[in-house]
Amino acid sequence: MFWRKRKSVINKELLISNVKLVGYQLVKEIQKVDSFDMSTCTPDMIAKFIDSLLYDEKFNAPKIAFSWYWSKRVLAWYNGGDTIYFNSRCLNRPMASLVGTYYHELIHVIDAHVLCYCGHGNNDPRGKEDTAPYWIGRKAKQLCKELK
Ligand SMILES: [Zn+2]
Repeated sequence: MFWRKRKSVINKELLISNVKLVGYQLVKEIQKVDSFDMSTCTPDMIAKFIDSLLYDEKFNAPKIAFSWYWSKRVLAWYNGGDTIYFNSRCLNRPMASLVGTYYHELIHVIDAHVLCYCGHGNNDPRGKEDTAPYWIGRKAKQLCKELK
């Protein structure tokens, strides 16, 4: 088997610094929401969790890893632990899109660490626009676009 090692297009530090830049405004936007679909966590709880990551000096947030996945429909995934996996086949996207993906997955990380629920059920995205992962991911993408 041949493994063609590609130079990764995305710099992880740059992605994290964009995640942080977006985060401060994102927390404020989340706090304006009354509730998320399917969620038993309040928006305020989710906002506070993100906020605690942002203000932690070491930014003890989930790490990023690039990993190959056969389907380009899967942009990223989280399977427990402290790492968010980005599909290495889907990295060639604007920074705002990557930041949105990070926040979507971060909500799954939060979901795994709290007693309330803030996911989106199965992996069918239809009708899930207002669940926490999709709403927050979309908002993060929009805020990142506005940074430039
Ligand atoms: Zn998801």
